[in-house]
Amino acid sequence: MNRIMRRARILLVLVLVIALGISLFAADYLINARDWVLFPGSPHLYNAGNLGCGIVTDRDGVLLMDMRDQRVYADNDVLRQSTVHWLGDRKGHISAPALSNYAMQIAGFDVINGVYTYGGTAGKAQVTLSARVQMAALNAMAGQKGTVAVFNYKTGEIICAVTTPTFDPESPPDITQDTTGTLDGVYLNRFVQSVYIPGSIFKIATTAAALEAIPDALELRFQCEGSMQIGADFVTCTGTHGDISLKEAFAYSCNCAFAQLSLKLGDETLDRYIRQFGILESIHFDGIATASGNVQILNQAPVQVAWSGIGQHKDQVNACAFMTFVGAIANDGVVTNPYLVSKITVGNSTTYKADYPADRRIMSSTTAAILQEFMRNNVQTIYKDDYFPGLTICAKSGTAEVGAGLLPNGTFAGFSSDPNVPLAFMIVVESSSAGSSGCLPILSEVLSACKEAV
Ligand SMILES: [Zn+2]
Repeated sequence: MNRIMRRARILLVLVLVIALGISLFAADYLINARDWVLFPGSPHLYNAGNLGCGIVTDRDGVLLMDMRDQRVYADNDVLRQSTVHWLGDRKGHISAPALSNYAMQIAGFDVINGVYTYGGTAGKAQVTLSARVQMAALNAMAGQKGTVAVFNYKTGEIICAVTTPTFDPESPPDITQDTTGTLDGVYLNRFVQSVYIPGSIFKIATTAAALEAIPDALELRFQCEGSMQIGADFVTCTGTHGDISLKEAFAYSCNCAFAQLSLKLGDETLDRYIRQFGILESIHFDGIATASGNVQILNQAPVQVAWSGIGQHKDQVNACAFMTFVGAIANDGVVTNPYLVSKITVGNSTTYKADYPADRRIMSSTTAAILQEFMRNNVQTIYKDDYFPGLTICAKSGTAEVGAGLLPNGTFAGFSSDPNVPLAFMIVVESSSAGSSGCLPILSEVLSACKEAV
């Protein structure tokens, strides 16, 4: 009897030990399985640091990349070049954080069923980009460096975001052999990772600050005699504009007027509003964080405060952040966060769906309405509507001086105020010999392609 009892006790202890072991494993699995599966070295999901499973399509279902077997890009080489900075390359020189961010949803992983078998049930990620617009934008850039982007300021969908220079991931270049400089920064996604001196598009922000902070801003008069002395320094203008209103100063992009306006606002007020508008913030979407912008306005000499309000001095903005800002002007002063990944499905299951509510007001709707009118006036009187048939475009141009002896960057930011084409845009053309006017023909092509994409 004792022997039976002893054996029963040993058996009980063994059962408890096994049960404990199973429990510990189960707990460890439930807690850590996701990390084990999603570990960047996992050969099931990754390939040279980039996601290596599932397929990616554009907003209309056009195939951009198939990773079910090996990484296969679109058939069209222009499409491949215009999207590689979002999809990543085979060697991992360009990472694709927006896809890696949803590795679990694309792999269709869950802790009960594990990773789904691929083939018939490959995860499909649909991005907001339009293949057609991406190609139109890359062709329109015609080998110039920079970035051009368009997003829907009502929904946040990024319809177009092209960065140049770029390359064909099916035949990657040997950048060490490039002596011409055409491939400098080729792995950089300039829309996400770069900051640029804005030039006069920054006057949109300075004007917004004035409309918010100065009750009679619309009654202000400015004097431009071609240049203006501040201390021992001068602010120079592109013309002699005489006695002008804020609206005229904005249309003529008068540096003297904006110097006077910046000094009237003062460093603290100008700095506070620039920050309130979110222009300098890193924009977060789909696991991506854009480069933060920068200004040095506080405690600067008056002439530097003046140049800051004009969009020079130490001003630096990220294209995505500035596009988001002008989108808010179009959207009555409320920011809509941009995003890239709209939906992920595995078989019949939807494992991810974008949901970015618009919830942050950065300026009054009155300020937004006045800016809309000012920016519309710019296109009607300065840039002309001919570039944008069928659209009601509101915009501001800039010519950003980047240093002595260097060609300036052309910049252009704005939006369509047509209710059925709610698109905002931002473009930078580096070393543009045509300055801001070099942006217009490119935008004309891009917005024309966009009209049919939304
Ligand atoms: Zn002037």
